[in-house]
Amino acid sequence: MKFVKRALLGLILLLVALFLAVWLQQVDPMQYDLVDSPHLFPDSLVNYDFDLDSLKKVVGSDKGLPPGFELQALLAYAAYPELKGVKIDMVLTQEGAPMESNFNIWSLFGAGKNRQYRILLNDAAGTPYDEILLRNLPFDAQVGILAHELGHVAYYHRHTTLQIAKWGLSYLLDDNFHATHEQSTDLMPVYHGLGRQIHEYAWYVRYDDCCAAAYAKFGDQFMDKYYLSDKAIQEAIDKHPLYNK
Ligand SMILES: [Zn+2]
Repeated sequence: MKFVKRALLGLILLLVALFLAVWLQQVDPMQYDLVDSPHLFPDSLVNYDFDLDSLKKVVGSDKGLPPGFELQALLAYAAYPELKGVKIDMVLTQEGAPMESNFNIWSLFGAGKNRQYRILLNDAAGTPYDEILLRNLPFDAQVGILAHELGHVAYYHRHTTLQIAKWGLSYLLDDNFHATHEQSTDLMPVYHGLGRQIHEYAWYVRYDDCCAAAYAKFGDQFMDKYYLSDKAIQEAIDKHPLYNK
């Protein structure tokens, strides 16, 4: 009995220590422009005859491609040279948020280079946000939103496991932290040369006829609360030297 009590006490102390170790981390929700020499992609990627094999070589074999969206994924990966050699998968799912970036939790406990990240892309039928699922977006908007998701991966990859845990708690509990993180992640495609593509996404989900019902439902409480408008993205493009050569 004594042993059980001691073991329980030890476990509680361990959990308290772990919680404190996470809680005391300082984590900045903001994403920054850290790209060395970004490549500017064309205003529209539609109708380009991209060579899949050369793109695959540029991107590397450690990147998963979602069936049916291989080219869009390759273009988004190609914009993130800092993620070369990092294992990332993009997976079509039948549940969850429209898009979500996370990781294989066990891989966070090993060496940083062995981390495995996942981008989950909801492809279910009959969701309340059907119009804004990846499959229903125009090509450029698809590349833009995948580049936004890779922005989250780049952020995770710069942080330690304890910092990611604090980030997760803050993201869930603090609306301002959540909005700052998502809005600055909307600028990651701009920093990576895919500004026109994320602009197309932000415009399309708000103003295209297809999405009016979804925007009326989710605009106030979700899209405009946590994400940048097309106008804010346009302002960032206008100010960024990459787009003003
Ligand atoms: Zn996001």
